[in-house]
Amino acid sequence: MASKRLATTATAALLSTLGTIGTVACSASNGESALPVKPDASAVSPVTPVASASDVATGREAAPGAPGIGDADFPTDGNGGYDVGHYGLTLGYDPASKHLSGVARISARATQNLASFNLDLSGFTVSRVTVNGKPARFDRAGTELGVTPAASIPNATAFTVEVAYAGEPEPVRGSSNLGTYGFIPTKDGAFVTCQPNGAKTWFPGNDHPSDKASYDFEITVPAGLTALANGEPVGEPKTAGGRTTFRWRESHPMASYLATMTLGKFEMLQGTTPGGLKNVAAVDPRFHGSLRKLYDVSGRVTDYWSTVFGPYPFSSTGGVVDDFPAGYALENQTKPMYGGFAPDDAIIAHELAHQWFGDSLSITRWKDLWLNEGFATYAEWLWSEHEGQGTAEQLFRRHYSAGADDPIWSYAPGKAKPDDLFNNSVYTRGGMTLHALRRRIGDPAFFKLLKEWNSTHKYGSVTTPEFVAMAEKISGKKLGPLFDAWLFTAKKPTTW
Ligand SMILES: [Zn+2]
Repeated sequence: MASKRLATTATAALLSTLGTIGTVACSASNGESALPVKPDASAVSPVTPVASASDVATGREAAPGAPGIGDADFPTDGNGGYDVGHYGLTLGYDPASKHLSGVARISARATQNLASFNLDLSGFTVSRVTVNGKPARFDRAGTELGVTPAASIPNATAFTVEVAYAGEPEPVRGSSNLGTYGFIPTKDGAFVTCQPNGAKTWFPGNDHPSDKASYDFEITVPAGLTALANGEPVGEPKTAGGRTTFRWRESHPMASYLATMTLGKFEMLQGTTPGGLKNVAAVDPRFHGSLRKLYDVSGRVTDYWSTVFGPYPFSSTGGVVDDFPAGYALENQTKPMYGGFAPDDAIIAHELAHQWFGDSLSITRWKDLWLNEGFATYAEWLWSEHEGQGTAEQLFRRHYSAGADDPIWSYAPGKAKPDDLFNNSVYTRGGMTLHALRRRIGDPAFFKLLKEWNSTHKYGSVTTPEFVAMAEKISGKKLGPLFDAWLFTAKKPTTW
């Protein structure tokens, strides 16, 4: 994500006045440990064993899946007990009545003997839930949709859930993080940007980035409107009875917050980047004059990042400018969304860098958000350097010149706070961390690291200790003190 406030340019000195006094005891692992976070279901909700016949064979009783996936900072986000492989979403939306109707077909695999499980869903009336084609009991509590299948599901077994639902979607409003996000109705449709946990405002699922899945979208809207989702179109849109159906497919794993069904009136430009990758740009007619630039710069940036970070991980690139004045952009997979402004090169460079850092490689827990935003911010500096404007070194020095009492130093970016995830420190000090690392280990090791980080964890989930460990392995240097100073200490670092 980038907000207009946070987006840096070669000349902008960006020193947020926000920030909180942080006391952070966490430290970098010094590289010896790179354990991924394992959701600890019992820490979130004590499980109540429910025996069933199938459990005898596996030797373990079936129990409810936890109502959270195990991210301590967001205890009810996502769910335990299963892993989603694919979402098939059939959606209809009418901007005039603001009515959405949906059928979600979820293919998942049990990760425990499962007596019942939760999906995340905010609002709507659920009319039907089936598991493996058989009616299932369901209940609602807050943003949890509890599902109890007719028979428990043995560990490691594939199963399908189908949920039919309808109602008026409500975005998340007044969040301390992003203000308004999720499914946001607009004058002519909807602007759908869901970081960190707004997917539940338009479809039921496992709404946490540590459970990634592929997606099929079938979206029906009034004729004359365009529905945009992730990935590439499947066939031509079909119009019948005054409504048009658009089908999109994202076949690569995707975090739920990166999914979109933005719709409305759009002008589109489709083709390929100079490097030969499919490129799809779309703008609300109010931004007619920005369409060509969005298309061209997105293509050039994507091609360039492919040489710096490694091959582009997805099958198309592009961008969408809608007229909802969000004031921020979000790196929706294959289609970054710009909310109410024509993006400059720096923001495009930022959002497209996220296709590698955040989208292909997703964080396992939100406190590691600097792995997305520090990298995307540093990418802005690399783009500036590439374009012959300010160098990364110059930009680093400008930011480093902030006084010792600047709020950026009192917020340790390696431990993003759940009520202030998008603090300037996570972005700018996160980017500075990478520059400090680059200076310490030198350009050859640094750029090798960026590529190897991507190729090793392509489509996967990552944590900060894993990055520290790889940096130490590739450079042959002990880097614990450097990462401690830059990521985990609430004061101005003096080491690099
Ligand atoms: Zn970002």
